Amino acid sequence: MSGFDGRKVVVTGATRGIGRAIALAFLERGATVVGVYGSNDEAAEAFRESTECPDRLFLYKCDVSDYNAVTELYEEIEKKFDTIDVLVSNAGIRRDGVLAMMAREDWQRVIDVNLTGSFQMAKQAVMLMMKQRYGRIIFITSPMAHMGFAGQANYAASKAGQIGMMRSLSKETAKRKITVNCVSPGFIETELLDDLTPEQISEYKKLVPVRRFGKPEEVADVVLFLAGDKASYITGSVLEITGGL
Ligand code: NAP
Repeated sequence: MSGFDGRKVVVTGATRGIGRAIALAFLERGATVVGVYGSNDEAAEAFRESTECPDRLFLYKCDVSDYNAVTELYEEIEKKFDTIDVLVSNAGIRRDGVLAMMAREDWQRVIDVNLTGSFQMAKQAVMLMMKQRYGRIIFITSPMAHMGFAGQANYAASKAGQIGMMRSLSKETAKRKITVNCVSPGFIETELLDDLTPEQISEYKKLVPVRRFGKPEEVADVVLFLAGDKASYITGSVLEITGGL
């Protein structure tokens, strides 16, 4: 299957969970993928070994919250690929705790990775995309941005921040044919939810009208639609994949 032949795609958090499914889907459709991960070399290697087209996959270890590291990453990308067509800013973390007890470090780290990381990745991507007057930027946010969730003030704030940033950026880049959107998955079966107890899992499933958690591949399908040529009139939007949450 093709559709993205010759396209250059950057996916952050590409080696596990939702990002892995997104990166695989792009590879299967002919794209060259720059996959960014934070620290887990073992997961990155396992991901490389699992793909059928390792020649089109370029993995980089880069903490998206580190401005200098992101700048160096883009210097490498520009040297190797000249430009990029798609950025999927997906890397994200949780450090849950009720606000009154939340350590400042847990507040800051979540904002730094989820929100500032998205800003830094997008800032550099826009500079490249502007030159070719084409691009697709997709941020992976969360319904917690507007719903809120006890114990997730930092996470919800970071995800709400992504939406505000996306809406502003979409207005700045529309004339250059660069679309900017968010995809907002509900509960998706990944390691991000590994700390949930069986009781919490069954309680949360009851909150979801379709009565199950989603799969990373179901998120990837929507991301690829937004990244494709048929989505050229969609910008400034948040597309939810939540099973009706
Ligand atoms: P995951 O399974 O925990 O995978 C996270 C990925 O992000 C890993 O590849 C990880 O790399 C990378 N990463 C973490 N911190 C990073 C950093 N500082 N710099 C670069 N890469 C970093 O998470 P997931 O469930 O797939 O979540 C992906 C995105 O979807 C997140 O933004 C999350 O908030 C959002 N989301 C998830 C759900 C859900 O239910 N799963 C729901 C709504 C939204 P390492 O392996 O090196 O750590």
